[in-house]
Amino acid sequence: MGQQHVAIVGGGLAGAKSAEELRNKGFKGAISIFAAEDHLPYERPPFSKDYLQSKSKFTDALVHDAAWYREQHITVLQNTRVTSIDPAAKTLHTDAGDSVDWDQLILATGSVPRKLPLPGTDATNVFYLRTVEDSTNIRRHFGSGKNLVVIGGGWIGLEVASAARAADTSVTILEGAAAPLLNVLGPQNAAVFAGLHAAHGVDLRTGVKITELATKGSQAVGVTLADGEVVPADAVLIGIGVAPEVELAAAAGLEVENGVLVDAALRTSNPDIYAVGDIANHAHPVLGHRVRVEHWATALNQPAAVAASITGSATEYTELPYFFSDQYDLGMEYIGHAPNGSYDKIIVRGTTDDLEFLAFWVSSDNRVLAGMNVNIWDVVDEVKALILSNRSVDLARLADPTVPLGEV
Ligand SMILES: Cc1cc2nc3c(=O)[nH]c(=O)nc-3n(C[C@H](O)[C@H](O)[C@H](O)COP(=O)(O)OP(=O)(O)OC[C@H]3O[C@@H](n4cnc5c(N)ncnc54)[C@H](O)[C@@H]3O)c2cc1C
Repeated sequence: MGQQHVAIVGGGLAGAKSAEELRNKGFKGAISIFAAEDHLPYERPPFSKDYLQSKSKFTDALVHDAAWYREQHITVLQNTRVTSIDPAAKTLHTDAGDSVDWDQLILATGSVPRKLPLPGTDATNVFYLRTVEDSTNIRRHFGSGKNLVVIGGGWIGLEVASAARAADTSVTILEGAAAPLLNVLGPQNAAVFAGLHAAHGVDLRTGVKITELATKGSQAVGVTLADGEVVPADAVLIGIGVAPEVELAAAAGLEVENGVLVDAALRTSNPDIYAVGDIANHAHPVLGHRVRVEHWATALNQPAAVAASITGSATEYTELPYFFSDQYDLGMEYIGHAPNGSYDKIIVRGTTDDLEFLAFWVSSDNRVLAGMNVNIWDVVDEVKALILSNRSVDLARLADPTVPLGEV
């Protein structure tokens, strides 16, 4: 019998970490990463932050450099897309025409931006943001006297707006809902972000409906609203969310529903195939329900559990969802899971006015489901402990900044 081979499909953070964690756990077999992009695996957060502001280089975002992969005997096949997987034959096929055998397969194909299906969105100065190339192209349109229109007041849209304002670009954000991030954060916290952007000179328009992009030749010149107003644009960024890249998994007959369905140990409906990162719809053993998380920390941390399963015994992934964002002088972290409809109230500790506060999403029986810290640091572990305690808390003490979090 030849050497065992783990094939990793997708060269993002989750793919690179899968390879790294296999070596960390002593896996001696062959490891290949199939990466559609013509780059070594890299992390994406800088591409709406430092890199977009020309404050960091592409190489700073690499998960590892080329020498590291060589030393670890990990093969990265750049510019190579896997076109099909055959779970019964345990092979995969690539767009280079190769057929490759594997023993275990890790799917880490990530997400792609949702497209806005409106006339004019194919203009050459209309952008989505997922790759380093996207970020490089967008920042070329920054500068004093230029108008950037951002469609969508989600995390990506808000971070791009912040980076564009730092370069003195005029920015208009067009958001369909009554406030940016309304669904994720609730009205009070959403208002904090709306106020932040307004204070930095962004023209934030909420409750708007877009009908098309006005074009001249191959260029967009504005965004047309339902009432006929055309908001002028030198460039347009569309940030309306992402969709998990599940086509391969679906075509291979794996169970797919809002991502690839995986069990607590991140195993798909085929026991030799795992899924990690943005595409994994995970039966979370601590939350007690399924969750698919489109954030950096999940791509970073899930692979260790998969590597443990492949090298020894099935290991459940138990980390709570976590994410962060940076906009202007506001930095925040959020831990837990409290989507719209799952919580009863939001309790704020401190005041939102000075942009230094904590917010807690609380159930009807006063258990903390999620927490956000804004410009207050080193509290995530305590917030996490509150969530994991799964106990009702005294809301007055939760809201009182003089009561140490650990004593709530
Ligand atoms: C601009 C930007 C900023 C972000 N900022 C934050 C942040 O501040 N905080 C946070 O928590 N999260 C942030 N995120 C989200 C975070 O980057 C993602 O959750 C993370 O990248 C997911 O990693 P992944 O490896 O699962 O997928 P991806 O990073 O999407 O990587 C998947 C890779 O697989 C490749 N691929 C897909 N199909 C195939 C195939 N068939 N064959 C070969 N290769 C394939 C893709 O081309 C891609 O390179 C940000 C995302 C973006 C785009």
